[in-house]
Amino acid sequence: MNIVKNFPNLVLDLDDVLLHEPSKEITKQHEFFSKKSFLVKDSYNHNYIVPAYLAEFLKFATNRFNIAFFSSGDGQRNISVVQDIWQKVFNTNKPESIQVLCRKHLTNAEHIKELQPYDGWDWYGNQKKDISKIGELHNTILVDDDKSWVLKGQESNLLKVSHFSGYLFQSILENYGNKDASTRIVEKSLTDKHEADYLLAYYKLVYITGLLDIANQHTTSIVNGLHAIQFEEDQPQFSDRIKDLQYYKRGYSVLSECSNGPLPELFPEIEKHFKS
Ligand SMILES: [Mg+2]
Repeated sequence: MNIVKNFPNLVLDLDDVLLHEPSKEITKQHEFFSKKSFLVKDSYNHNYIVPAYLAEFLKFATNRFNIAFFSSGDGQRNISVVQDIWQKVFNTNKPESIQVLCRKHLTNAEHIKELQPYDGWDWYGNQKKDISKIGELHNTILVDDDKSWVLKGQESNLLKVSHFSGYLFQSILENYGNKDASTRIVEKSLTDKHEADYLLAYYKLVYITGLLDIANQHTTSIVNGLHAIQFEEDQPQFSDRIKDLQYYKRGYSVLSECSNGPLPELFPEIEKHFKS
């Protein structure tokens, strides 16, 4: 896996994007999700739940992007968890060409107003992830759950996703014992926007795939495509599209192609909404 010159760069945050519910113990949630896919581990022996279709997503992402990781964790921990992901998905070590940035690569923005994006308090942060360290801005995307990492001038490069709560996901599904009731609650959740957050956030990689695929069709660049999707027209107002099923539908179809066949069924009553 080498750097491909014309590929866009996709920079992935780790915590709350690919890694959820850190715990040295295997909790009930860890057990519940490990039956659906797998858990990953870092050098501090934390176990993490990963979102749905991590393997299929990484196959898609490494085929179409130069990927990198940027997380505020320490370097050794970040590398250890990426290694474990690589072993579990590709059965090899992480290729040297894939960069893993960490705490020491953050940009200090404390008391430096010029480094803060213009649009409101939730973009404010003392530390920033400057993704120009990885690639040219017209061609580089940061996937993160937290806007406050974004450096001024890199707002359009953010692909914002939601944090995922395994506990809430499991309790929404388990509180409705039989399959018909569980289908009804899922359907209700997907129209009742609050509960949908918890259910959809588990499928964030499907969303990211769909959004990237659609942004990539923009006539100028993928970053402009991303901007067109996440910013209101002619306004500096950012809003993510995490509740818009069209991106999940596109992502589900793209990931199915990457996996050479139907995706594994994890929670069919949710996934049927992604099949168009
Ligand atoms: Mg994060």
